[in-house]
Amino acid sequence: MTEATILIRGARILAGAQAATTPIGDILIRGNTIVAVGEVPPQSPGSIDREIDGRGLLAAPGLINAHMHSQSSTMSGFADGLSHPAFMWLTQAHTSRRTPQEIRLAVLLSAAQMLTTGTTALIDHFPGQRFSTADMDAVLAAWEETGLRTTLAMRFFDGVFSDIIPAGIEVPASVTALVSGSGLLAPHPLAELREQMPDLITRWHGRSGRIGLCPAPSNPDRCSDEALLFCAELAQRHDLPIHTHLLETKAQARIARERYGESTVAHLERLGILSDRWSCAHAIWLDEADIALMAQRQAIAVHNPESNARIGTGRMRTPEMLAAGVPIALGTDGSGANDNLVMQEAMRAAALLHRSDLPDRRQWVSARDALRMATLEGARAIRLAGQLGEIAPGQLADIVLYRLDAPWWRPLNDAASQLVFAETGAAVTTAIVDGRVVLEDGRITTFDAEAALAEIEGMEATLRLRNADLFAAADAIARAVR
Ligand SMILES: [Zn+2]
Repeated sequence: MTEATILIRGARILAGAQAATTPIGDILIRGNTIVAVGEVPPQSPGSIDREIDGRGLLAAPGLINAHMHSQSSTMSGFADGLSHPAFMWLTQAHTSRRTPQEIRLAVLLSAAQMLTTGTTALIDHFPGQRFSTADMDAVLAAWEETGLRTTLAMRFFDGVFSDIIPAGIEVPASVTALVSGSGLLAPHPLAELREQMPDLITRWHGRSGRIGLCPAPSNPDRCSDEALLFCAELAQRHDLPIHTHLLETKAQARIARERYGESTVAHLERLGILSDRWSCAHAIWLDEADIALMAQRQAIAVHNPESNARIGTGRMRTPEMLAAGVPIALGTDGSGANDNLVMQEAMRAAALLHRSDLPDRRQWVSARDALRMATLEGARAIRLAGQLGEIAPGQLADIVLYRLDAPWWRPLNDAASQLVFAETGAAVTTAIVDGRVVLEDGRITTFDAEAALAEIEGMEATLRLRNADLFAAADAIARAVR
């Protein structure tokens, strides 16, 4: 943690999602914490390490991307019109068998998109295959390098990844072998996870004050009950969140019913582990009882509106879930399912996609609801509720500065609304994470983004050769499932 003191002078301040006005004021940051907001009196000479001229800028809380996959960041532009199983196989082809350097480059690509567009914290649900400790060390070292506030959701499955083998169609034996044999999607033995996860937590959790870890079922239906209970116990022991995909597709809802005789949410409740530690990406195929249970336990739904629309998996019942009291955070999902990691676009989609079908405007998700999802509720998902998501004394110093001379900010009418409906991330000039300037005049200060982007250009061709069998499997599934 840095102990530097930063003073932002004379910015317009959007303190948080509920703020009605944007008064001009100063923000004093000491170490990783905001210590004063408003009129900060002149400080004694030498006591300020860094003064930032905030005139003409809007200071807003950094956005929190509560569901993304760093490994998919190289997949922008692929898979238009593919079914969910075909998309999942294409993702396997692109993201499997990466070297530590390729894992790092995908993180830097993700970080470059988020830092330059105003996102300061994230949950990376990584990887897409059975992981090794070396994979996890590579991804964690890369996130530490970026300066972003990161929760690495250690994604695993100790059961069968059956929902991506479509029912009732002929797929080549070589494809099923990849799932059932000793391949990439073979179940991760729980005995190994019991060793790996605590070891990773011990070595990485809390590193730099910005790196967190959490257990993360790929999807509860791809895991044994014992593994889910282990996640709950591990999270309890270390006070961690638990992250997962939940009921993203209709097929997953059907599989859960067949397997449990009840929905996945009801099953987590039956196991006694549904709680406010859970943040659940997608949460689309929930029934009334599931929504009531999520609200009762304060389990968090992470809405990914663009991804859901892009792959056509369904639409989260956001207005009903908000009304029922389910906490809702927001994510972009990986770039394979939603080509960029721009949270302003995710907010906009969250506030707009349901409106045409919902005549009662009182039920609409407002811009402020969407901003709350991307700030306070995201903070809740990474277990920093009350400490992150607003610009106020005592809060962690994750702050983004936007240029108010950008045309979509002129005139300044309603900052929260314009941040959601008008901003694209393009007016971001400065980002501070945990009291450290990580983006300055639009340039990333923590790593060489240009070099990383140049190196990524050649990765695709290498992966096509290395993973030819997986690309063939993806093609076979795409042909079989129109
Ligand atoms: Zn996802």
